Amino acid sequence: MSIAFKVYVHCPNCQKDYGSFLEPPEADDAPQDIDELLESNFLRDQKFLCQECESPIGIVTGVKELRNEQLVSVRRLEPCS
Ligand SMILES: [Zn+2]
Repeated sequence: MSIAFKVYVHCPNCQKDYGSFLEPPEADDAPQDIDELLESNFLRDQKFLCQECESPIGIVTGVKELRNEQLVSVRRLEPCS
């Protein structure tokens, strides 16, 4: 079973949206679903970098969960302001 996440990130600097593909390492505490991903240190440790303006400040606006390359769950996140 391989789990991967596609994280959608909004750049507040240039207003672009981009996606980042994350594959958690196979560990006991690796996130198994979107809720666990959002609470995980793994996500907090990710460094997002906007390809347009190279701003490292990204706001996660959505997540897709994939298992064995099949889409199983989609989450839209409200940006907190
Ligand atoms: Zn940007």
